Amino acid sequence: MQTNSSLTTVLVIGGGIAGPVVSLFLKKHGYHPILFEKVQQLADVGASLNCAPNGLKAFSTLNLSDDLIKCGGLIELISWRQSDGTILAENDFLKQVSQRYGFPFVGLKRSKLLAFLHAQVEGANIEKHMGKKLINIEQTDSSVIAYFEDKTQFTGSFLIGADGLHSTVRQLLFGKDTVNYTGVTEIIGVSTRPTGLCSEKGVLLQIAGVGGHIVSYPFSETHCMYACSLEESANPESWKTVSIEEMEEFKCKSKFSQWTEPTVRHLLQNTEKLMKIGIYDRDELPIWYKERVILIGDAAHGTSPHVGQGGNLAMEDAYYLTKMLPASGESYSLSTSTLKTIFQQFTDRRRPRTTEIVKRARKEGEDRVLNDVTACKARDEARRNLFSTPASMEIADRLYNIEL
Ligand SMILES: Cc1cc2nc3c(=O)[nH]c(=O)nc-3n(C[C@H](O)[C@H](O)[C@H](O)COP(=O)(O)OP(=O)(O)OC[C@H]3O[C@@H](n4cnc5c(N)ncnc54)[C@H](O)[C@@H]3O)c2cc1C
Repeated sequence: MQTNSSLTTVLVIGGGIAGPVVSLFLKKHGYHPILFEKVQQLADVGASLNCAPNGLKAFSTLNLSDDLIKCGGLIELISWRQSDGTILAENDFLKQVSQRYGFPFVGLKRSKLLAFLHAQVEGANIEKHMGKKLINIEQTDSSVIAYFEDKTQFTGSFLIGADGLHSTVRQLLFGKDTVNYTGVTEIIGVSTRPTGLCSEKGVLLQIAGVGGHIVSYPFSETHCMYACSLEESANPESWKTVSIEEMEEFKCKSKFSQWTEPTVRHLLQNTEKLMKIGIYDRDELPIWYKERVILIGDAAHGTSPHVGQGGNLAMEDAYYLTKMLPASGESYSLSTSTLKTIFQQFTDRRRPRTTEIVKRARKEGEDRVLNDVTACKARDEARRNLFSTPASMEIADRLYNIEL
């Protein structure tokens, strides 16, 4: 299908986070994005994501961040505990970080975030096709043709692969490669907010044990998510809900059900939905583009979720890529060599940061499932001391401080 727009048409594959956000930026920048998502309908899949000051700062340039923040729950306090309830550190570090960078931490239900982004896409009159699974790409000197499973095809000036960890676009560009199982599996639950922690300011709760870890934060007035990390042989990256029987077994018989930290019992007993997910990431990809096709988000740099940056990096990518493109009016016919120069500059700018964050998240995951008691003690002592040293703000700077 050839589009009639007189603006430069950009084919965007993937309606997760990176796809809708880059479509919004492209539209604002004078392009004609067309967004394609393989699922027919958005569903309540997954649990929640933490929008951090860096992602929100990039997103704020669309003038939509205030509305997005209203969809979730603010997180300002942090509480690090051990599995027996010993408090290692409890403070308003996240509030300090929010004030330092001008944007808050917000817990958002993933389905609500996606519904919000898709509503903005529709409100901006961006062409969107659901139920379109990309299966092939063909490139010419001046265009890209995308082929879909339903036998339709669309032509654009260039194509953005924002199709996630198991990206088809990435495979079509560089051949089949593997995602890395990190050795960590997460049992992710949605629960009611525990009363003791139901303060006005949301709490990021981290509970460290031997051979396991729980993180929890609120994503609404009434509900929170929790993720229990443990070491297991590979499990699929399935965001599907487990059966009632498996959920009951987990609540009553898992190692976490033996932990005596007082909020754990509440979280487990009030679980409304439970998922079991193998955690994967990707090795650094040296080149993110081929000719007129570029990867962004998890498709370029899939990360494990342990520093809460997957969605935030996707928002950053969308912002920086669009910023590097000429305003469409100046560039009706973008040559392949111009695009390659822009894509290389984009990769050079983004890759050091995304590589560092992927590695940091992997290390954090490993720390969460330590089995050796002495190593766990050393890890917990480091947490106890972290917030009384400048190192905590240095880490925050690395993660959350971005220049627009
Ligand atoms: C179903 C699902 C649930 C998730 N839940 C959580 C969660 O609860 N917590 C968390 O921290 N992270 C979750 N994640 C991961 C997190 O959303 C991403 O790591 C992060 O937001 C990066 O966003 P992205 O847009 O790059 O990729 P994604 O958010 O993964 O989006 C990629 C999109 O591309 C679509 N797609 C894939 N292949 C094709 C194709 N061939 N043609 C067309 N479309 C295609 C996918 O359906 C998906 O909508 C989830 C991811 C998925 C796919």
